[in-house]
Formats: sequence, structure tokens, C-alpha cells
Amino acid sequence: MARKNFEGGCHCGRVRFRVRADLSRISQCNCSICGKKGILHLLVPPEDFVLLQGEEELTIYRFNTGIARHSFCRHCGIHPFYVPRSAPDKVSVNARCLDGVDPLSLKPSRFFDGRNWEEAQAARLLAEKG
Ligand SMILES: [Zn+2]
Repeated sequence: MARKNFEGGCHCGRVRFRVRADLSRISQCNCSICGKKGILHLLVPPEDFVLLQGEEELTIYRFNTGIARHSFCRHCGIHPFYVPRSAPDKVSVNARCLDGVDPLSLKPSRFFDGRNWEEAQAARLLAEKG
């Protein structure tokens, strides 16, 4: 599947973004926060992501190493995108927040074992090289 342009945002509409992403590359993570939030990750380079509005409405939650910037709308609590620890040079968009996409149609094809973060990250970096 090719990359397509999407717009999306939080629930109340204050945070809006545009992204170029490939819906066949959705990943799911079982770490302490992704497991609870149910995020479906679309990892994109910063040039494929534009925050259209709402930067000042985002609250950043940090824990553990503090590298990941878990951002969410401070009004409606929805997590439309964030900067992940496993790829701090990229943006992880939550595929559940894309306009016109039925969440039931989203099928993760990659899995990140965030409960065993160091091992999962090493395997991910190896796979990227190969
Ligand atoms: Zn909101």
C-alpha cells in the first residue's frame, strides 16, 4: 500500500494535524502506556507531519527515561500523536485519530514488545538495517 495524505485530530478538534502515511504499516506496542491507551502507531519522519493547530493545547506527559514526549489534548484527553522513545527523531501518529478512517478497519502489521524495551529496540534497529 502506498503512502496517502490524511488529516486528523483530537476529539474536541482543538488539535489538528496533516500526515503522509502508509496504513499498511501500523504498529502496536504492549508497553505500560501504549497498552492502556490502545494507540495504533504510524511512525513517520517529521517532514511527513504538519501540526495545523493546537500546539498550545497539548500537555506533555513524561515518565521513566523522559525521552518520549507523550502529548495529549488537555481539554479532551485524546492522544493524536507523540514523539516516541524508540524513534525520538520521528513522529508517531495515532491511526485512530485520522479523519475518515474506520478504526475497525485498522490492522496492525508490526508489534513492538515495549514490555521488554531494550530487546525490542535492538531487534527493531536490526530489522531497519536489514
Ligand atoms: Zn481536544
